[in-house]
Amino acid sequence: MSETGLEQLWAGWRRDYVVTATESIRRGPGDDCVFCRIAASGPPSVDNLIVWRSELTYAVLNAYPYASGHLLVMPVRHVGELGALSESESADLWDGVRRAVAAIVAAYDPDGVNMGANLGHAAGAGIPDHLHMHVLPRWSGDTNFMTTVAGVRVMPESLAVGWERLHTSWPRD
Ligand SMILES: [Zn+2]
Repeated sequence: MSETGLEQLWAGWRRDYVVTATESIRRGPGDDCVFCRIAASGPPSVDNLIVWRSELTYAVLNAYPYASGHLLVMPVRHVGELGALSESESADLWDGVRRAVAAIVAAYDPDGVNMGANLGHAAGAGIPDHLHMHVLPRWSGDTNFMTTVAGVRVMPESLAVGWERLHTSWPRD
């Protein structure tokens, strides 16, 4: 993948969260954080799009994906910085990321997987106050396709199908 393609992909991630993030900041830290609301929405279901959760971590389908199966893995607690995670939260977050990669590979058989985080506004985080890791499947030559469709909202049916696939493929203990 070219560097330009990567920049475009990561820029795409930030765009759809800007409005939500601005509202969140205006109302005060943690007050009305969309990720905290999702975390409080109950067990995994196709309605809240949570694919998996433990006591400390959860994985949710990105409602504004740039690929099918685009997951966000994050601590349940409203934490913005890696250094603010407890050891348990840190280990559990990594366990969640590891499972997310395994689920994506099993569900989509992609050519590759991107995983990463935007830490802070300057790095492109739309919601910098609640740490989250992006994990998404990639296919050879998909960058141009994804650039073309960036900004197009995926229909709820597609998200439901993606949730079903990932929930089924999620590695259990
Ligand atoms: Zn939060």
